[in-house]
Amino acid sequence: MASALRSVHTRIAALTAVLTAVGPADAQQHGPAGERRPAAEARRPEHNPARPAAPAADATGRPDHNGAAARPTHDPQPTLPPLVAWQHVQAGNDTFVRHRRDDLPPPELPPRPSGAGRYVCAVVVCADFDGTVAQHLGLAAEDVLVLRVPGPFVTAESAALLERVVSRERVSLVLLLAHRRCESLRPPRDDERAPDAIDRRRETAVRDAERLGVPLRDALLRAQRELLLATSTPLQLATAEDRLRIVPGVVDDRTGAIDWRNRRSDELPLAPVK
Ligand SMILES: [Zn+2]
Repeated sequence: MASALRSVHTRIAALTAVLTAVGPADAQQHGPAGERRPAAEARRPEHNPARPAAPAADATGRPDHNGAAARPTHDPQPTLPPLVAWQHVQAGNDTFVRHRRDDLPPPELPPRPSGAGRYVCAVVVCADFDGTVAQHLGLAAEDVLVLRVPGPFVTAESAALLERVVSRERVSLVLLLAHRRCESLRPPRDDERAPDAIDRRRETAVRDAERLGVPLRDALLRAQRELLLATSTPLQLATAEDRLRIVPGVVDDRTGAIDWRNRRSDELPLAPVK
């Protein structure tokens, strides 16, 4: 067990070295929140109803004991707790699956969950998944940031974009979605082609799956989650503070049902400290 863990750590270290060699995600965006606010307000003034109260608080002469305005957790903007976001898309998927099964027209979209920023969630999904991701989750297309990559195998660029939307748009839920009928994960037939970059990442996932004694897609999704966290300190911090949850799932291409492959702690209101 210890040696398995060591080898996971060694692998993460190696992958991180590869990814960070490309360059860390835009460090400048983590400046004081005050610098970001004008842009955020310009985009969504309706989300700042508490703003006019601020001068009254200053008039008491009390120092702002919250201190750093740079801490996003103290920003008066509303937030969408990760568990609430996840429950919203779980319910959306259940409804979608029922309508598809019963050959009904696509369901009406439920009301947008309150507290959501620009997106209700972000989804990293395999590039050759044929379905419409937003529909599968009961969301409007503009409510979900979809990153399509083969596998899905996380890249440095997708990690950087997720880091940006978690920091700037307060995205609290990232889904990692593999699917059952995945052409990207099919090994080459004899003489079909030489193994390529996707095959090499699949082979790593196959070795992980054998070592961990879990299905290929579970090993793959676990590794992508680890990789995102190992690559990005802001994503790590957001997860540790339960401002963000990264939840894996496997989509059945035929029924549209998502088999959630989360850890048990993802179902609790507050993720326990890991
Ligand atoms: Zn695929």
